[in-house]
Amino acid sequence: MSHITKIHIWNFPKEIQEEIARLVRRYAFYLPNWLHELHVYNDQFSSENAKACIKISHEYQQALLVIKDGFWEQDPYEQEQYLVHELSHIYTTEVHDFVGDIISSCVKDDGLRTVLIEQRRKINERLASTLAWAITIRDKEGKIIPIEFLFHKNRIAQKNECDSKIELADFPDREQQEGIPS
Ligand SMILES: [Zn+2]
Repeated sequence: MSHITKIHIWNFPKEIQEEIARLVRRYAFYLPNWLHELHVYNDQFSSENAKACIKISHEYQQALLVIKDGFWEQDPYEQEQYLVHELSHIYTTEVHDFVGDIISSCVKDDGLRTVLIEQRRKINERLASTLAWAITIRDKEGKIIPIEFLFHKNRIAQKNECDSKIELADFPDREQQEGIPS
């Protein structure tokens, strides 16, 4: 079943704006139908290690996917895997937050609470990676079929003037996505 989510592409240089939009559109079938807006923001001032993160508001039916500096160091396969991993958190966050609330309000022992919170974090990450692995579009050998990307290690995102765009996407079903091997 297809649905419509508004995709906002923020602060990317024109050269890769459309490439990012294309990558997100490729996985649009994976977005939940309650999500009305997906904001994708290029953070040019993040640390070297960080690759991407996502913040989700169920109340406002929005998600903010932040692309960080380390993302541009990855090859296209890894970039796609990271992006789908972050999108997977749209599904895992609600339970993650709920469990966090229970731990915080019910576990009085500081040591035990720290252990449980760390355990919760690990499970959340593992679940997102598992979902991402299952969803990523692959060939018969299990290798991601990446969109031919302009992303390179020259940090194009750092050097050029940035711009924003908004598009409305009417998302096709998974079978209609480009790159699905027949
Ligand atoms: Zn994660």
